[in-house]
Amino acid sequence: MTMGLGGSNPLVDVHVHLYPDKDAGQQAKDSYVIWEYGDDPGVQFATVAGDMTDLATTYGQAGFDRAVVVHLFDTALARADAMDRLAPGRSPDEPAHVTAAVDKAVAEAVAEAMRASNRWVAEMARANPLVEVLITLDPTVLTGREIVDHLTELADAGVRGVKLHPVSQGILPIDPRLHAIYDTCSDAGLVVLSHSGPGHRGDASARPSEFGPVLQRWPSLRLVLAHLGGASWQETAELAGTYPQVAFDLSEIIEWVGAPHAPSATDLTELIRHIGADRVMLGSDFPWYDPVRTANLVDGLPGLGTEERAAILGGTAVRLLDLERR
Ligand SMILES: [Zn+2]
Repeated sequence: MTMGLGGSNPLVDVHVHLYPDKDAGQQAKDSYVIWEYGDDPGVQFATVAGDMTDLATTYGQAGFDRAVVVHLFDTALARADAMDRLAPGRSPDEPAHVTAAVDKAVAEAVAEAMRASNRWVAEMARANPLVEVLITLDPTVLTGREIVDHLTELADAGVRGVKLHPVSQGILPIDPRLHAIYDTCSDAGLVVLSHSGPGHRGDASARPSEFGPVLQRWPSLRLVLAHLGGASWQETAELAGTYPQVAFDLSEIIEWVGAPHAPSATDLTELIRHIGADRVMLGSDFPWYDPVRTANLVDGLPGLGTEERAAILGGTAVRLLDLERR
């Protein structure tokens, strides 16, 4: 099934979040602080919460061919839930744990919650031709062996790869616990899309330069860096020049143009042209931002040619994510 992707000017958003219900989406939006660009230059946030109804309405009405869900899992929240159930009254932050048996039961509950969350989002993609999925994997939750088994199961069910968030997950891109993911995705031709940007208050960094060793070691890995490097965007051109296989999405950073640690519209256009529009993809970070507005911002970048715009708005994603294969 191709949904017209063979035709001219496909419209694809490669950076979308989906939540099981509106409360979960709103909670995620409320708790995720965007700090890295400095003072807000007048960013327009979307008002939707990001459940399946919001996604289908927003993308369906705007005529998108695909919305690629880059799934996230809140390990700390799942751990707090599991502690509530298995050791009520004990804080998950306590350094001294309850008993080894409870610790083990909590770890298993968190692992199972993450797998269940991925199976749910994979089912959403199976049931909705508009939706593609990259699952979430936290290597502090699953062992290397468990990662390979779970990823293989869901790749067989049609997911396109893996979303990583080194800053939220507190793990550097080259960390050995991520190697099973790179090995599996590289061998199977699956995509790894990672958040990129500086770490917060000394947390693990996901600056573009941190991905150099990954690209060096897995030269055929299909790596996509979100946000064009975020507030560390000045490292992006060099990484892109050294490693022609790495691609990017422009989510978030395009909304923050003009902020102290974001590029100007001219800087952003220059960066995209330096990398090449055949390696840069539209991303909105829905439900934080509205994808139609983001597409309009791409149209408004000064000096991009018609073919470059068409590539960014969908052509590049169709090719790099192999979206005609369903
Ligand atoms: Zn995102």
